[in-house]
Amino acid sequence: MQKTHVGTQCVQAGYSPKKGEPRQLPIIQSTTFKYETSDQMAKLFDLEESGYFYTRLQNPTNDAVAAKIAALEGGVGAMLTSSGQAANFFACFNICEAGDHMISTASIYGGTYNLFYTTFKKMGIEVTFVDQNASDEVLEAAFRENTKLVFGETLSNPGVRVFDIERFARIAHKHGVPLIVDNTFPTPVGCRPIEWGADIVTHSTTKYMDGHGVQVGGAIVDGGTFPWKDHADKFPALCTPDASYHGLVYADAFGKAAYITKATVHLMRDFGCIQSPQNAFYLNLGLQTLHLRMQQHKTSALKIARFLQDHPEVKWVHYPDLETDECHALQQKYMPEGSCGVMAFALRGDRDFQNHFMDALKLVTIETHVADCYTCLLHPASHTHRQLSDQQLREAGVDPDMIRLSIGLEDPEDIINDIQHAIQQAHTL
Ligand SMILES: *Cc1c(COP(=O)(O)O)cnc(C)c1O
Repeated sequence: MQKTHVGTQCVQAGYSPKKGEPRQLPIIQSTTFKYETSDQMAKLFDLEESGYFYTRLQNPTNDAVAAKIAALEGGVGAMLTSSGQAANFFACFNICEAGDHMISTASIYGGTYNLFYTTFKKMGIEVTFVDQNASDEVLEAAFRENTKLVFGETLSNPGVRVFDIERFARIAHKHGVPLIVDNTFPTPVGCRPIEWGADIVTHSTTKYMDGHGVQVGGAIVDGGTFPWKDHADKFPALCTPDASYHGLVYADAFGKAAYITKATVHLMRDFGCIQSPQNAFYLNLGLQTLHLRMQQHKTSALKIARFLQDHPEVKWVHYPDLETDECHALQQKYMPEGSCGVMAFALRGDRDFQNHFMDALKLVTIETHVADCYTCLLHPASHTHRQLSDQQLREAGVDPDMIRLSIGLEDPEDIINDIQHAIQQAHTL
C-alpha cells in the first residue's frame, strides 16, 4: 500500500476487502478453523505454514485490528491482548525470565508499577526503578550483566510527564537491550516511539484507542528494529531452539518479526490473554475516529489547563503543552501537535476542600477511567494508588495533592463552568 497519512490509516489500514466481501470488518466469532487434510493442520502446529487454527492464538478480526495498530506505529507486526496489563506483562516476559533484571522509570501507571514491583519480584525478575530525569551516568549505573530491557511511558499516567525516548533508546542500545515504551496516552496519532528509537511499543487500548469506555484491551507492537542475534547470549529465548516447536529458532525463522511471533505462538499459546474478536471490532470503531477525537481532546485540554493555571485557587497544573511546563521542550520535540487530554493539578486548601470540590462537580465525574469521551477526574493518592506508601507515591511522581483530570469530548466551556462552580461550592460545604 502507498504511504498514507495517519488519518487515512486510522480509517483504512489493516483490512482491505476483496470483491464481494463486507466493507465493514467482520467479527469472526469462531474458536476454530477448518482444514481439508491432517497434513495441512500438522504444518500449522509446526509453524511451517501460516493460517488460523484456534482463536486463543490468532483470529482474523483481531489480526486486522492489530495490523492497523502496527501500521499506525510503523512496526512490523502487532498482537492484541485482553488488557493493557497483559500487554505490558507479555512485552517484558517475552524476553525476561526468572534470574533476569530489567530497568523501568518510576513514573509509570500504578498497575504497571504493581506488576513490576510485586509480581515480577515473585516471579524472580528484578526491576530497578530509575528517575527519568536522572543523568546518563546514574541511568547507566543501573545496568547489570543480566539486564534484558528498559521500560518507560511516553506520557506518564497519572503525572503526565514526557519520557525522553531518544535518550533512553541510546542508553539501552549501548548496553545491548531493547527499549519498550508504553504509548497509551499520546497514541500513535500524537507520537510514534519507534521513529525515536524505541523497539517495542505497548498500549492499553482501553483508553483513547477505544475512546468510548466500552471495552478493556491492549496491544504490543514490534518495531522489528532490535538486532536480537547481535546479542544472542542475552536473548536465548529468541536465538536458541524452542523445544516446544521442534527446535525452531525464532530469530532465524521469523527475522524482523521474531519477537512478536514468539509472543503470539509462545506466550499467547501458554497464557491465553487473547482479546475477544467482539472487543477487537469495537476497538476498530474507536480507531476509525482516533485522529479526530485526539485533536478535540487536546484543543479542549489546553483551554482548560490555561483556565486552571490562571485560577487563584489552583496551586499548580502539570500539562506538557503549557509553555511554562517543565516538560514543554520534550512535548514540542516528541508530540508537537499536542500531548493528550489528561492533566494533573492541585488546589490550594486541605484534603477536605479537595474532596468537597470533587463532590460538588456535576458534569465532570469521579471515575477510575481516563482517556475517553467523558470528562472525569480522580485523586490518585486516595483512589488508584492507595496501595502505595508515601515514599512509593513520591517515587512514582504522584504528589499526595494531585488530582488527575481527563478531558472528554464535551464542550470545553461547560467543563470550565463546572470546575469554576465546584471550586466556589467547595467553600460553602
Ligand atoms: C490503563 C493503563 C494501563 C493498563 O491497561 P488496562 O487496559 O487497564 O489493563 C497500562 N499503561 C497505561 C499507561 C495505562 O494508562
